[in-house]
Amino acid sequence: MDFIDLRSDTVTRPTAAMRAAMARAPVGDDVYGEDPTVNRLQMLAAEMLGTEAALFVASGTLSNLLALMAHCGRGDEYIAGQTSHCYRFEGGGAAVLGSIQPQPLEFEADGTLDLERVAAAIKPDDPHFARTRLLCLENTQGGKVLPLAYLEKAREFTREKGLALHLDGARLANAAVYLGVTLEEISRHVDSVSLCLSKGLGAPVGSVLGGSRELIAVARRWRKVLGGGMRQAGVLAAAGILALEEGMGRLAEDHGNARRLSAGLADLGLPVSPGEVQTNMVFLHLPPAEAGRLCAHLRQHNILIAGRDSLRLVTHRDVSRDDIDTVLAAIGEFVQAGRKG
Ligand SMILES: *Cc1c(COP(=O)(O)O)cnc(C)c1O
Repeated sequence: MDFIDLRSDTVTRPTAAMRAAMARAPVGDDVYGEDPTVNRLQMLAAEMLGTEAALFVASGTLSNLLALMAHCGRGDEYIAGQTSHCYRFEGGGAAVLGSIQPQPLEFEADGTLDLERVAAAIKPDDPHFARTRLLCLENTQGGKVLPLAYLEKAREFTREKGLALHLDGARLANAAVYLGVTLEEISRHVDSVSLCLSKGLGAPVGSVLGGSRELIAVARRWRKVLGGGMRQAGVLAAAGILALEEGMGRLAEDHGNARRLSAGLADLGLPVSPGEVQTNMVFLHLPPAEAGRLCAHLRQHNILIAGRDSLRLVTHRDVSRDDIDTVLAAIGEFVQAGRKG
């Protein structure tokens, strides 16, 4: 059955071109560093991110964990957003597997962390406290793009405070397209950056971590320890190369579809803020019971949406402009039926 799947941009399926590239990819044993396609992907990623080196990994979760474990050791601390992926949605991996303590802080409305509040959270050099080593930012954060001027300030701030700066750029490509800049113009401000190939960029599997040669060597070591050393991974990297080369070209379309969706929902009188849609996510805040009824109604129309506290609708390559209109019609039907069900 064909669903219109708005749960996440992770649901994109590999294109015919990706499958063809995967089939003909030259491969070798990547644990020995001998997979030519993985090496090509890593060189391309490093070039696009403007980092000395890059590492191909199975997921964004692993990429963030490796960055945290490369920057921090046992008894160290990282500061991150209360709802950031690397703190909230990765099973506590940094603490569980890295012995690294999180210090979560509330995100500001624009997806930044207030640097004065970060400064106040840095622990003094005293054995009562964990050693604060790292600040983690997220871009995009809930679909919002961090201003470049903020990243510049965060860079200066972390240098001054002796912290490293990691960017969870799962959707960095969406941020770059929104700002009309290259990936490197964003990632130049940070010490390490994680980018998902498997979201809007459309690869079936994988993320890349960019950073200094030294940091990537440490991350490579932890990747093996954590069981993430892959062998003939070139079949996956081949799709990742196409994601990097061609995936960004069409993200503006996803952003346009999200704006169209948000404007349509506002026209239906639903509580959305079309002015706030910057990239490929629309949030719809409904009381839980009503949200549940809407999900069920849409399911009957073969439309999938996700959400717990608020509903999140994500546009991506496998959702067309016509699909957006189909979704709006189905939600319109729900609204006309009185939302109460
Ligand atoms: C999706 C995502 C990740 C990593 O997700 P994986 O499913 O592990 O690839 C990390 N950070 C953010 C902000 C994400 O949205």
